[in-house]
Amino acid sequence: MKYKRVLLKLSGEALMGQQDYGIDPDVLSSISAEVAEVVKAGVQLAIVVGGGNIFRGVKKAASMGMDRASADYVGMLATVMNALTLQDALEHAGVETRVQTAIAMQEVAEPYIRRRAIRHLEKARVVIFGAGSGNPFFTTDTTAALRAAEIDAEVIFKATKVDGVYDSDPKLNPNAKRFESLNYQHVLTQNLRVMDTTAIALCQDNEIPIVVFDLTVPGNICKAVKGEGIGTMVGLKEAVRSVG
Ligand code: UDP
Repeated sequence: MKYKRVLLKLSGEALMGQQDYGIDPDVLSSISAEVAEVVKAGVQLAIVVGGGNIFRGVKKAASMGMDRASADYVGMLATVMNALTLQDALEHAGVETRVQTAIAMQEVAEPYIRRRAIRHLEKARVVIFGAGSGNPFFTTDTTAALRAAEIDAEVIFKATKVDGVYDSDPKLNPNAKRFESLNYQHVLTQNLRVMDTTAIALCQDNEIPIVVFDLTVPGNICKAVKGEGIGTMVGLKEAVRSVG
């Protein structure tokens, strides 16, 4: 295994599968089986879950005329629903887990305590971080970068529905090129959609590489942990290289 401690970012959209809303149970069980495999192999895994499959603050604030901060708090609560659902699925797959939330709700989860999270990882428990960073105007991508830095993760796995980062939208441009590797600076200057700029800047400052890959391909989490060249690797000094 190339990596010993990994921060996996699961977007709400990834959990949705082919549905328009909510969580696809098949996706959930296939993710859980893969997570079980990598944990069994000795990898320490922390997960940040998104909430976009249920509620996205900025979108709802605009469409419902809702106060942005209030909408973001609802978005953060949505991530907790995903976190608890994922916890249940992981435990069914035989993985020991803890959920820690950035907004205290001690009846359902532990509060986020950095040292405790690290201790859980050392004991081979998967730690699922819910409620984002606890602050409105942030995203769960930024939370992933923050938590990865805090727990000293070697890498962030950004699991999505596409097989990496492209120079333009592959759904709109049939000639779009996928990058094999690229650096943070290129992502920022070219405005490539990897993560939001706050998240990228945080990764850059702390030199945390990001591997972007397709979660819907079975076995990809295991391949990414082994360091097999799937998807796109974003790092500080990575050369900008396209596939083919
Ligand atoms: N959110 C927030 N602060 C955070 C993380 C998330 O306010 O630190 C809110 C925000 O409204 C966001 C929603 O939670 O739209 C769901 O998170 P996100 O959109 O990042 O989920 P994803 O796109 O990964 O599914």
